[in-house]
Amino acid sequence: MTALLGMNPFIQVTYLVATALFILALKWLSSPATARHGVWAGELGMLLAVGGTLLDRGIVDYRFIAIGLVLGSIIGVPLGMVHMTAVPQRTALSHAFGALCVTLVGTAEFYLQGPAISGFTMSVLSMEIILGSLTFTGSLMAAGKLEEILPQRPITYKGQNFVNLGLLAISIVIAVALVLHPEMRYLFPFMIGIPLVFGVMMIVPIGGADMPTVISLMNSYAGLSAAAMGFVLDSKLLIIAGALDGASGFILSVNMSKAMNRSFTNVLFGAFGEVQPKGSAAHEELPVKSASAEEAAGILAAAGKVIIVPGYGMAVAQAQHKVRELYDALTKRGVDVKFGIHPVAGRMPGHMNVLLAEADIPYDKLLDMDEANAEFPQTDVALVIGANDVTNPAARSDAGSPIFGMPILDVDKARTVMVVKRGMSPGFAGIDNPLYYLDKTLMLFGDAKSFVNDVVRELAGSHH
Ligand code: NAP
Repeated sequence: MTALLGMNPFIQVTYLVATALFILALKWLSSPATARHGVWAGELGMLLAVGGTLLDRGIVDYRFIAIGLVLGSIIGVPLGMVHMTAVPQRTALSHAFGALCVTLVGTAEFYLQGPAISGFTMSVLSMEIILGSLTFTGSLMAAGKLEEILPQRPITYKGQNFVNLGLLAISIVIAVALVLHPEMRYLFPFMIGIPLVFGVMMIVPIGGADMPTVISLMNSYAGLSAAAMGFVLDSKLLIIAGALDGASGFILSVNMSKAMNRSFTNVLFGAFGEVQPKGSAAHEELPVKSASAEEAAGILAAAGKVIIVPGYGMAVAQAQHKVRELYDALTKRGVDVKFGIHPVAGRMPGHMNVLLAEADIPYDKLLDMDEANAEFPQTDVALVIGANDVTNPAARSDAGSPIFGMPILDVDKARTVMVVKRGMSPGFAGIDNPLYYLDKTLMLFGDAKSFVNDVVRELAGSHH
């Protein structure tokens, strides 16, 4: 407290404004219409927080800060330029760096404060160190799995949960011992080392498909460890920013689990995302019907109502601008075109909304899952563009399917289904999609961007 009372009032006001901006950022980010303001508010808040900290008279030497700034920029700038589809692993790396920083600061504080450290400070410092260390290795593992540097397959063995929870329990016992006896300094490295191992072991049994949920959980842990660091350093700004981060990460993880119809414990302990044994191979021999861009354009032009369902493939192909042209061409002909958005389409929450907003597709044409499902039975054509798992009817009907129970977009209720994808490859969950073998389904084989482009050209050609 004394540190805060003695603080320059200018710095205090800077921190207060930064805090307000962080809260506004989260509020504005919750709607596509204000999301850009949210990003600016967050950036400005962070600039003020860093600026205010740099003015602190407690800083005796700026040289190390300058080195840190240069190193951080060298790492940060390229990280900011990755493709949108790589944002989940990029985010995981950011969490890893944040957690590493928290752990290093906590370690420095432990040795600076020495055995005179108070019971309260040692408790929050232990929480900071444990959460920081496990988030560091856990996030690196998650990034590695998403980038496919590490095997995506869950690796499980007997007694795994017992071993993992045991590691966590030992870390907590060490923390309690250090709170009671801070002079037992030799225990401190174990309080870092064991959670570092736990972070790796925790991610090993979780499949690649669950990594985005894990990343948002890591977001929450990184936030909580930063909040704990705020108590150690007596910084209200850090406490508030960390708590906001911790809470929003947690809410997001819960929402994502719900959208995939999985319980939280199932994500963490369930070993989902396992590559399916080729039991579904039987389907591969089944015939599918395919159509050309010309035929597809004809069917779309004759339709009264079309719902476009975008997915990961649209994102990879960067086809959103072509999709906008298709929307324009069809709307001009009087076709009612809407978009059905699944909450976990793509590879991160809000992925489709961001892409469609980038292409200036009006927000009011975007239907969420429930709205779209209410409209499919009255829809002439459901046009699936690079989406797969989120349209898989096995989730409704096949109790043996790994995605059974996941809410999906009921595209198969539309009169005709057309699916743009390059071949018969499965999606993220690695499973076959019975949708493709239905009588009403036409496969439009090709890259999303070039196929949609061909359809737009056909529509323009036939117009004149
Ligand atoms: P998906 O099931 O992964 O399928 C994407 C499809 O796009 C693939 O089958 C692929 O087929 C096709 N594709 C790839 N590149 C293409 C291109 N250039 N042109 C055209 N098609 C292309 O995607 P989704 O339906 O969007 O489902 C998302 C999956 O991610 C779900 O399993 C979901 O649970 C999981 N997930 C998402 C989140 C999230 O936050 N969004 C979080 C956790 C998990 P071809 O190779 O044959 O072209």
